Amino acid sequence: MAYDMVIKGAKAVTPDGVKEADIAVQNGVITKIGSDIEASGATMIQADGQYVFPGAIDCHVHFNEPGREDWEGFETGSRMMAAGGCTTYFDMPLNCIPSTVTAEHLLAKAEVGRQKSAVDFALWGGLVPGHIDDIRPMAEAGAIGFKAFLSKSGTDEFRSVDERTLLKGMTEIAAAGKILALHAESDAITSYLQMVLANKGEVDADAYAASRPEEAEAEAVYRTIQYAKVTGCPVHFVHISTAKAVRLIREAKSERLDVSVETCPHYVLFSHDDLREKGSVAKCAPPLRSQQSKEALIEALSAGHIDMVSSDHSPCHPSLKREDNMFLSWGGISGGQFTLLAMLQLALERDIPFETIAEWTASAPAKRFGLQQKGRLEAGCDADFVLVTMEPYTVTRETMFAKHKQSIYEGHTFPCRISATYSKGRSVYREGEIVSGIDGA
Ligand code: ZN
Repeated sequence: MAYDMVIKGAKAVTPDGVKEADIAVQNGVITKIGSDIEASGATMIQADGQYVFPGAIDCHVHFNEPGREDWEGFETGSRMMAAGGCTTYFDMPLNCIPSTVTAEHLLAKAEVGRQKSAVDFALWGGLVPGHIDDIRPMAEAGAIGFKAFLSKSGTDEFRSVDERTLLKGMTEIAAAGKILALHAESDAITSYLQMVLANKGEVDADAYAASRPEEAEAEAVYRTIQYAKVTGCPVHFVHISTAKAVRLIREAKSERLDVSVETCPHYVLFSHDDLREKGSVAKCAPPLRSQQSKEALIEALSAGHIDMVSSDHSPCHPSLKREDNMFLSWGGISGGQFTLLAMLQLALERDIPFETIAEWTASAPAKRFGLQQKGRLEAGCDADFVLVTMEPYTVTRETMFAKHKQSIYEGHTFPCRISATYSKGRSVYREGEIVSGIDGA
């Protein structure tokens, strides 16, 4: 049998564990994983000593296009994902102008993405006041799910939900067979504390963290779980930052509620000390937590209580990152390129099997969001994969692919690097270069 491409001599990270194997690809699909696959006539990639992971699926990025391409955009953003070993991303409905809250906006944005993206993608729709009737049409237009904020989103165009909108919206989302992705922080708690602190003139890193305590996350998670019981809506809790919230979600799962949870690499690698030291590149919401909380979150992740890991890549124009007032600085960490590397660092430090990393970064999001062809190194799946070389890599501005080279990861050293990424059998990144970009090859 003739193949288009054969990866030879790799350590393939399959759902059953790491196997020394060749991987054969034909027409963009993995056709065989096994030993000594005949490569004559095929493009042969010698990958001795390298690990091959399924391409990561990042269900949480903000590319801000259309309307705020000066923050990121599909072209730079998708190239950054490719450079980080991600072959499918889900773009959030806010920050772009207009917000993705109607089917028309969703389809227009999808067209822009199709023209510019180097890898596959899906789009979230937004659940915001006044747009409940748009949920069904957006679902039919292909929305992967719907995003809502319990606290302020950071942009005026994308409003947080009131309780009535949330309950009604969850009912509609359930009826459309979709999932609600929720930013879970209590607006009552965070707004009140911010006001109290700002009135006292406290606007530094400590004040910002104090305004968004762990209780704000726990309260929002608890409340939404009750709403999920009332409405029957499947819920995905995004960027969960505390073990406390994970416990509540676990309890809901034990009651057979259809809920899932992601955390982000920055909550696992960094802590509030980094916000103090590095300033606003480390500002995000929920905020980076204490060392102790970080440790508890890592324990919850290692124990298998968190379904998946996503980047929440949330960049902005550099002028919006302010150091004089942490409340007024844009909140969001630019880290879309580093999710897989961050998880591999954790794996090596904590002795976590690589197949578990592949689950968190690829197979779990594929399963949760119904991408049956993706997320696994398995015959019949899309040939989305990434080659990892076990040599240290220090992040520099020159090797960052995000539009703006400001990131908490600058100067960070990972124990390994991404050497190549393939999207449906097409080479999209190799050794520091985007190799085919939007045209394919
Ligand atoms: Zn986000």
